[in-house]
Amino acid sequence: MTKEENILMQRYEMGKLLGKGSFAKVYHARSVKTLQNVAIKVIDKNKILKCGPMDQISREIAVMKLVKHPNIVQLYEVMATKTKIYFVLEYVKGGELFNKVQRGRLKEDVARKYFQQLISAIDFCHSRGVYHRDLKPENLLVDESRNLKISDFGLSALSDCKRQDGLLHTSCGTPAYVAPEVISRKGYDGAKADIWACGVILYVLLAGYLPFHDKNLVDMYKKIYKAELKWPSWFSSDIRKFLRRLLHPNPNARKHPWFRTDLDGRLFDHVMNTTDNDMPLDINLDVDYLSCNQAMEKLTNLNAFDIISLSNGFDLSGLFEENSNKKKAKFTSTNTALTIITKLEEIAKSLRLKVKKKDGGLLKMEGSKPGRKGVMSINAEVFHITSNFHLVEIEKTNGDTLEYQKVMEQAMRPALKDIVWAWQGEPSVKEKCQF
Ligand code: AMP
Repeated sequence: MTKEENILMQRYEMGKLLGKGSFAKVYHARSVKTLQNVAIKVIDKNKILKCGPMDQISREIAVMKLVKHPNIVQLYEVMATKTKIYFVLEYVKGGELFNKVQRGRLKEDVARKYFQQLISAIDFCHSRGVYHRDLKPENLLVDESRNLKISDFGLSALSDCKRQDGLLHTSCGTPAYVAPEVISRKGYDGAKADIWACGVILYVLLAGYLPFHDKNLVDMYKKIYKAELKWPSWFSSDIRKFLRRLLHPNPNARKHPWFRTDLDGRLFDHVMNTTDNDMPLDINLDVDYLSCNQAMEKLTNLNAFDIISLSNGFDLSGLFEENSNKKKAKFTSTNTALTIITKLEEIAKSLRLKVKKKDGGLLKMEGSKPGRKGVMSINAEVFHITSNFHLVEIEKTNGDTLEYQKVMEQAMRPALKDIVWAWQGEPSVKEKCQF
């Protein structure tokens, strides 16, 4: 293959195959423009279409592009052709954590560091209502400085798809990391299922083998279901107690290992010395949404995490193309939908824009005088990603582009400052990721 043929969309020079997941192929690549190393995950369009409504998936992906945490593999961009989707990801050089464990169990202080980084990332995402739901050492990569990086965060719809296809079970041979309530298919809480998986991961790191294992799959399910644990002799009583809290068969009794990440070397002691009362337990994500007023019920609910439907034949080309999104200014907010809409109305008033229509999460605003190209109209739409996490899209629907840009840059953006978590395309989230 010539060098030119090896360039993806004139932007990335494709390199060697890094790995194959049950779902995708991952290649090393390099940006033609900046020479930055990246990993490109290539997924067949037909496979992704089984995962859920495409607009929903693309919106989840849009959100993931805004989520930045030092222990989460960053998603830089998504590209699509008619048949394939390309996720351009942060390149993590050190390989899978799984390989390290296969060479032998980790020392307690090494396992502790990885576990702390894991919880830091998980807690960060859970506080925004994003769950992984497919955590296992294969999804944990290690960089050159031996820092943990979780891959596939936020692409939970894709994990669902794996589960639907039964691929989760065949890819690693076992459903070893899956929580009992997930197995019983009764419907489950993503946060608690992740905590369970963190417990299994910690066990594997410290033991060098799985906590629930049996050649017979049915017997293994039974062990998971009862959370039947056997302890290696080298597990201290503190670690046993701690793991019991994470690997509790009843999700409601499972404890969130929430802790400050600067407690280096003190994790187990800290957790064990904390009483149930002073340990912040599960984060209730739905409270603020319930307090939203009735009008908000009409708000477009875009939480795809539990919706699985088929939408065969959907043409993806163009969906992720930068140009189609350029017209829209997008930001995420950790405020309630009601607060966001109220703020937008306030801003409209101060800019002498009339609110022409308010319908659920959609606000149509219009200028009072016609400009060069007629009356300027702006739509703002609030999409519910989770109860405390919303995506807001603002676009001009009529009028002069320059006039609109001026309003956006000089008035709208500064006025929205208090409720914006991150604007799309602006790397302003990083400092907010630290606890
Ligand atoms: P996955 O489909 O995510 O399971 O990826 C398959 C394999 O590709 C992984 O097990 C890794 O070895 C490799 N891989 C995935 N993502 C990255 C990345 N961001 N950087 C480097 N290697 C990766």
